[in-house]
Amino acid sequence: MPSPVVLCPNTDGLSPLSLQRLMERFPNGVEASLSIAEPQLSRLAEASISLLEPLVVSMAFDGQGQLRLSFHALLRTDCMRCMKPLERRLELSPAVLLFETAQEADSAMMSDPNIDAISTQDQRGIAELVEDEIFLEIGHGLSHAECLPMVAAETSRPNPFQDLAHRLSMKKPS
Ligand SMILES: [Zn+2]
Repeated sequence: MPSPVVLCPNTDGLSPLSLQRLMERFPNGVEASLSIAEPQLSRLAEASISLLEPLVVSMAFDGQGQLRLSFHALLRTDCMRCMKPLERRLELSPAVLLFETAQEADSAMMSDPNIDAISTQDQRGIAELVEDEIFLEIGHGLSHAECLPMVAAETSRPNPFQDLAHRLSMKKPS
């Protein structure tokens, strides 16, 4: 792999993400680290999730269309169960395939369900991608370890409407 370089997110095709720009700029691929400032993560703030340490993302672009990210995030949010603050460290290393158009991204995912494809058409940046991955990982929210059994008990409690929903073939809430 090529040696690390200093990236300029705005001109190197990262903010917003641009497949065309990345391929022009790094035809042989690139590996780099990017710092993401908390103001760039506005959706996390809206969900009352704060970062307890700076977020540094290692990225590797293969020169074709694959973008691998790797980062640790130390989050503070409120427990789903007791509403008291909790801290959690996430270690994520998602890989996505970039496409110019949403149509291309959709057909790539349809041909292989294991592919995570995104289009760069909608002008999103690395920070949004990082937020997406964090939201995917935490799902509906986080709980303390000691609160988890209670959350599990609540979700396994029989739901009087579940049978009806099943009979009506309604989509089960996830
Ligand atoms: Zn709790």
